Amino acid sequence: MARKVLVDCPERIPCNPCEYACQTGAIRVGEDLTAIPEVNLDLCTGCGRCIVACPGQACFVVDLDYSPHEASVDIPYEYLPLPVKGQQVRARNNEGEVICQAHVDKVIVSPKNDHTPIVRLIVPKDKALQVRALAME
Ligand code: SF4
Ligand code: SF4
Repeated sequence: MARKVLVDCPERIPCNPCEYACQTGAIRVGEDLTAIPEVNLDLCTGCGRCIVACPGQACFVVDLDYSPHEASVDIPYEYLPLPVKGQQVRARNNEGEVICQAHVDKVIVSPKNDHTPIVRLIVPKDKALQVRALAME
């Protein structure tokens, strides 16, 4: 499995920038703006556009095949200072609990992402689907 989106948006809120950001149609909200986004992983290229478009920081991109025992998780990160490549950090889940150590593989800052940084974390594979944020050591 290649890099694929993970959308954690369970609340019925009037919002759909993820749908507009996705150029392959992999995310669909539809005419009812309060609908929960539907995801078609077959259409997802892992581009990450939805990560920076989502005001709720609810979109992530996960690669469960990063290495035999590790996965990568791309998360939005809007704080300063930014982490740097190779840095050890802590990964948090949706409840803010630290679930594992992680290291920073890449920090992507691009004008095409409206300058919202994306941080690629490397985490144990069994934690990857729970990672939602990072905390500096
Ligand atoms: S990662 Fe890219 S292709 Fe996949 S859902 Fe997000 S915007 Fe669409
Ligand atoms: S942009 Fe984010 S918060 Fe809004 S519907 Fe999409 S995933 Fe949910």
